[in-house]
Amino acid sequence: MPKLEVLGESGMDRLQTIAAFISEHWQKSDDQEMALALGLSVCTVGIIRRLLGFKRRLGGCRPITRPVVVLDETLIKQVETLLPTQDNRSIVATCSVPAKKVVDLRREWAKAFIQANWQKMSDFQLAEATKMRPSWINWYRRSIGLNRRVLERLLSASIQNRLDKTDLADALHNRGVTLEEYIELRGLKVTKEGLRQAAHNLNIETNPSARTASWYAHRYGCPRIADPQIFRQLYDSLGGLGAMSQSLGVDTYVLQRIGRMHDLEELWRRKSAGKVIKRCAICGATFTRPKRKDGTRNNPEQELHFCSRVCHGRYLGRNFGRTRHKK
Ligand SMILES: [Zn+2]
Repeated sequence: MPKLEVLGESGMDRLQTIAAFISEHWQKSDDQEMALALGLSVCTVGIIRRLLGFKRRLGGCRPITRPVVVLDETLIKQVETLLPTQDNRSIVATCSVPAKKVVDLRREWAKAFIQANWQKMSDFQLAEATKMRPSWINWYRRSIGLNRRVLERLLSASIQNRLDKTDLADALHNRGVTLEEYIELRGLKVTKEGLRQAAHNLNIETNPSARTASWYAHRYGCPRIADPQIFRQLYDSLGGLGAMSQSLGVDTYVLQRIGRMHDLEELWRRKSAGKVIKRCAICGATFTRPKRKDGTRNNPEQELHFCSRVCHGRYLGRNFGRTRHKK
């Protein structure tokens, strides 16, 4: 192709020359070749070509050929062994392989890795192991239908049949064990949510409200206070919750909670001084007053008692003031 002498021409003339050249050659040459001949950048040629309406997708152009990099098998093997341990940049530096090829190889390897390990690892763990982005891992996993929720359901269904129902219920309600700890304890291959669903299907309550005093006693390292009688004995002999807490090494609020579950709250509740029963002078209803308040009143000569402000108001209305009832 002859190199055009476009330099020296001015403005519109030059543009027209370029346009004429592109319309003549765009079907036979690619932008790179025309750019070389015109002394312009590939981008500029592409822009002018498209402005002239010569779009590549309309056909008629020669397909652009890119040089194909052929790598021999041993080099690919070498790259593949390095993929888990090194990032792309250092592989390119050590193996003299085109960067794009390394990226492609890593992507293919990561896909196989995800398919093999997605059930055991989270997306973030997969991302760390394959040195890919977590968002890509997530996208790829979903794009081939590897759904974690479905997996969860399948796992919990299979775990359900292998669980020891009484053992699980005992652990969750009496032995101070949480769902997560139970998985550790029995070496189950299931997530916390999976176990919760399995327990739900087996009618085992997993809500913390189902925990008994024994659960808390085990949880805080003092199983013997799970027995209410021993709890009471300790309380009496040591002389209070604070002393118990000191001697057992268990927080006071935990002891309070356990005691309340044993119905021993009366141990540390202040006792009531007692009540006095009175009768209302208006409606005749009986009501109580604290004993310590009996006899303390503004008008000691007054013998009448009233159950409420309403009854007191009625009494005042009937006996005093301008509107009092006439006999
Ligand atoms: Zn009354």
